[in-house]
Amino acid sequence: MKGFNRFFLIPVLLVLLFAGCGGRQSYKPGTYTGKAEGISGDDVVVEVTVDKSAIKEIKVVEHNESPGISDAALSQIPKAIVDGQTLNVDVVSGATYSSEAVIAAVTAALEEAGANIKKLASAEKKKTDAATSATEVINTDVVVVGAGGAGLAAALSAHENGASVLVLEKMPVVGGNTNYATGGLNAAETPYQKKKGIDDSVELFIQDTMKGGKNINNPELVKVLASNSAGSVEWLTSLGGDFTDVGRMGGASVNRCHRPTGGAAAGNHLVQVLHAAVKEKGITVKTDCRVVKIMEEGGVIKGVMATSPAGNVTVMSKAVVIATGGFGANNDMVAGFNPKLKGFGTTNHPGATGDALEFVKPLNVALVDIDKIQTHPTVVPVKNKMITEAVRGNGAILVNRNAERFISELETRDVVSAAELKQEGGTSFLFFDQGVRESLKAIEKYVKAGLLTEGATIEEVAEKMKLDPAKLKATVDKYNGYVAAKSDPDFSRANMPRALNNPPFYMVEVGPAVHHTMGGLKIDTEARVYNTSDEVIPGLFAAGEVSGGVHGGNRLGGNALSDITTFGRISGKSAAAFAAK
Ligand SMILES: Cc1cc2nc3c(=O)[nH]c(=O)nc-3n(C[C@H](O)[C@H](O)[C@H](O)COP(=O)(O)OP(=O)(O)OC[C@H]3O[C@@H](n4cnc5c(N)ncnc54)[C@H](O)[C@@H]3O)c2cc1C
Repeated sequence: MKGFNRFFLIPVLLVLLFAGCGGRQSYKPGTYTGKAEGISGDDVVVEVTVDKSAIKEIKVVEHNESPGISDAALSQIPKAIVDGQTLNVDVVSGATYSSEAVIAAVTAALEEAGANIKKLASAEKKKTDAATSATEVINTDVVVVGAGGAGLAAALSAHENGASVLVLEKMPVVGGNTNYATGGLNAAETPYQKKKGIDDSVELFIQDTMKGGKNINNPELVKVLASNSAGSVEWLTSLGGDFTDVGRMGGASVNRCHRPTGGAAAGNHLVQVLHAAVKEKGITVKTDCRVVKIMEEGGVIKGVMATSPAGNVTVMSKAVVIATGGFGANNDMVAGFNPKLKGFGTTNHPGATGDALEFVKPLNVALVDIDKIQTHPTVVPVKNKMITEAVRGNGAILVNRNAERFISELETRDVVSAAELKQEGGTSFLFFDQGVRESLKAIEKYVKAGLLTEGATIEEVAEKMKLDPAKLKATVDKYNGYVAAKSDPDFSRANMPRALNNPPFYMVEVGPAVHHTMGGLKIDTEARVYNTSDEVIPGLFAAGEVSGGVHGGNRLGGNALSDITTFGRISGKSAAAFAAK
């Protein structure tokens, strides 16, 4: 019997040990390199070290993924593979493409190492430690819910105004929709406009915003937005931001959309700048921490309750800033407010699910313009990749399946989206030339992502897009004539910065997708939140896309980044002042 135990139990134990861990694997010991294309279009390169039977170490040695957004994927995925000895690992929410690139790169390296990939990929996932039932209790003056642009600005401002601050973010990464913003931030009367000879004013900014919002915006909030916009750019610049390039977005009378040099993407830059400052000030941001409830007693705000993989978190605070963003990624909620948008795709990050609209319900918070939901007209169907309005601002045109223009391309998004839906197929084609490409660095990410079709001539790109080449040539020639004459008799397009005659030429099919939720919590100029009896809820503040009133019936491109910076700062300042009482 003893002999039986010895020879039988050892193999059984080994089988148990390796079950769920990629099965028994054998590798050729060494360090192997693997690569796979990331979301940036560049390769994610990994080095994987194995011994005879195990994956010992994975290093990401090269990548060009977006800072901040991809950080968690680049660190957590290698760890999960090594810990579990499996390729069957969960992608990081909000960084799916970067996660998949790391997994694919590691797979390539392990193939070289002689691994049985099929077994590794189907191996059971390592069970994560079950969440403890213990509740962590934290005390702070101000708790900020959401670490997008508004939340990070609020946290910095509350800290600048003397409060202790904690930020809770439900996703593994900070930045929310702000990370995705490309076109830029609207501001009037900035030194960068003056340097370029742009004659703008706070008054004109207000007029454009009210007109774009169909005059249902709260004029007081719009006044605050416009009159603080140059100060917001200055503040971001003082933190290390670069908002020196100035371009045009739809509905703007002049160029006032500020972005990094060369027209690079603005949102991720803004998040990087704010997040670095938050870290530098020692403000804690707890990621993977979803707020589910606001605590209140006898009308007094007491803090928030949150859940996280490590257990529940209760934050006792004197003030709460809600900066959870919009609900564009929650199609049930979107369709609940606007049934016409049922089934529409979205440009939003997966965390834009409108949690706040649920957790403020017990407080009877007043909502404004909640059914006002914007579609963006230049989103690549199925892939849901948005082509920034700045491409049209820098000269691109839209044509339908007849290769004809059908709208002034820089009309507001609601107008362009509606016109597009009336075209055959409900989509259109964005057309531009090398001159536009060179004017806007942000276009490079569309090139790398393989979104654009290129042709050496207008006819060639038309053929590739299955449009009539002669018709497209005639349309572009006519448009170039309008550029020269500085007048567009067909659609009265005001801003025609360049002729489209510089090869190669580029096209991409685009259509409308849910982009921005204008409505939200009712706030005033101090970012205080109101209840349905039109009373201030003491200690409760909100800023950014979660709030309503700034953008009215339709948001102008570039106004959200301005909104979140200005009202983010105001909410932090107000919350700190309230906490100090
Ligand atoms: C593709 C795209 C391009 C855009 N381009 C531009 C542009 O060029 N210019 C412009 O002005 N605007 C642009 N916008 C709009 C703009 O980016 C957003 O409106 C703005 O960034 C919203 O900022 P926010 O801080 O309010 O929300 P977000 O940046 O979305 O941040 C909210 C954060 O709260 C977190 N959160 C949500 N619920 C909870 C919870 N229960 N607990 C804890 N955390 C929670 C979210 O995960 C998120 O990180 C664009 C939007 C998209 C999607």
